[in-house]
Amino acid sequence: MRILLIGYGRMGKIIEQIALSRGHEIVARVDRTIGTMLTDELLSRAEVAIEFTQPNAAYEHCRRCLESGLAVVSGTTGWSDGVELLRKYSNDSGVPFFWASNFSVGVHLFAEINERMAKLMSIAPEYSISMSEIHHIHKLDAPSGTVITLAERVLSQRADLSGWLLVEPGTEVEQAKLPITSIREGEVPGTHSIEYRSAVDCITLTHEAFGREGFALGAVLAAEFTRGKRGNLDMRQMLQTNI
Ligand code: NAD
Repeated sequence: MRILLIGYGRMGKIIEQIALSRGHEIVARVDRTIGTMLTDELLSRAEVAIEFTQPNAAYEHCRRCLESGLAVVSGTTGWSDGVELLRKYSNDSGVPFFWASNFSVGVHLFAEINERMAKLMSIAPEYSISMSEIHHIHKLDAPSGTVITLAERVLSQRADLSGWLLVEPGTEVEQAKLPITSIREGEVPGTHSIEYRSAVDCITLTHEAFGREGFALGAVLAAEFTRGKRGNLDMRQMLQTNI
């Protein structure tokens, strides 16, 4: 496919390598640090755009792609209101829009196990639940988009919890809310944990990414998945995990 890369930072560079290794062509790399702008000419040359920039830029990039009829895959996190608006626009217009807070196939399977575990654990109210995420110090948003998605999937199974709450590590929280701790440390690519703790034991489910390659591969697979599709797309559709 002819791919337009929007954002040529840490993710953009790995996505480029993986896309080329899978036989795709990179039409252009748009990034303010290299002085390339998103133009109508570039938009018309690509079959799909892959956007990994930052929260305050993602809406404008993705909107421009969709309005010009170009399918877009975006992994930028921290702009959920804009994502909702563009999902609606995508469904109305038919132009594919594939956003995921996390494109890793492993994380997606982890998220499925997490939701099923939450349902199972609801028969044992003596376990209190908490979540944590650890990421590198360059990450702009906290809590991570992934932990928010994981929390929302737990909440969908737990009528006794009324929402999630970002807390400092070690803080005691009344269990009507699901506490999330965010830690920023070194170059950690992304670690997410869900803990169920009772007075007598503890059950923990953890996903640890070893690098950014898993996210980048998922984004390229998502770009391939947009071919021939219409409207809003997501990881559940791509991986067919509704089993
Ligand atoms: P990065 O800072 O290394 O790269 C971002 C790039 O975007 C930079 O090169 C920057 O110059 C460019 N940029 C920012 N604003 C721009 C603008 N207005 N116009 C043009 N270029 C602009 O960050 P990264 O590690 O590549 O991550 C990018 C985003 O992807 C973040 O939001 C991060 O949280 C997210 N992310 C998502 C996943 C996922 O699987 N969904 C995985 C990793 C990172």
